[in-house]
Amino acid sequence: MMPRAPTTVRHRDPAATLPRMLLPRRIQHCRVCGAATVYRIPPDDNRERATCTACGEIHYENPLNVVGTVPVWGDQVLLCRRNIEPRFGMWTLPAGFMELGESTAEGALRETIEEAGANVEMQALFSVLNVVRVGQVHLFYRARMLDTSLDPGPESIEARLFREDEIPWDELAFRTVRQTLELFFEDRRRGSFGVHVADIG
Ligand code: ZN
Repeated sequence: MMPRAPTTVRHRDPAATLPRMLLPRRIQHCRVCGAATVYRIPPDDNRERATCTACGEIHYENPLNVVGTVPVWGDQVLLCRRNIEPRFGMWTLPAGFMELGESTAEGALRETIEEAGANVEMQALFSVLNVVRVGQVHLFYRARMLDTSLDPGPESIEARLFREDEIPWDELAFRTVRQTLELFFEDRRRGSFGVHVADIG
């Protein structure tokens, strides 16, 4: 018997083919009436949406923005050690989910204050990283630290400055943080900073 060609695989449930990381975001109950939802393709749409079996409400799910900064003091970069899951104890650039009512730069600044208590001046957008696998877009701005006073919030165990040769590359919390730091040090060696758009697998 001929092996079945991969192209003949059919997916009755497109969502079932999504990576596992996306599944926790699947909506089981209607946000309006609380009844059970089913995933079905609404009329005039082309992908399955959580649709309420009682009131018909359609729940759209879209990528989330994570916004943060690369805070710089001289030849050093500020990192925070996470006091929360996921990646408890690992190092990250200050970053978090964007809130309604703020711009990307405002969110990045807010996260920098909340997580590190750093006093910074926002600079240009530096990296835009698509993390399609988990339905997120991570945006990092460069930021100039105005002094070295720090006051890490409850989400951070500590915050401190690192020279490039001190960066704990094996203890970084997220691939987008690693990618952004690598790009930052590359650009700094070259003497000019660009805006980097990339996909993170
Ligand atoms: Zn409903």
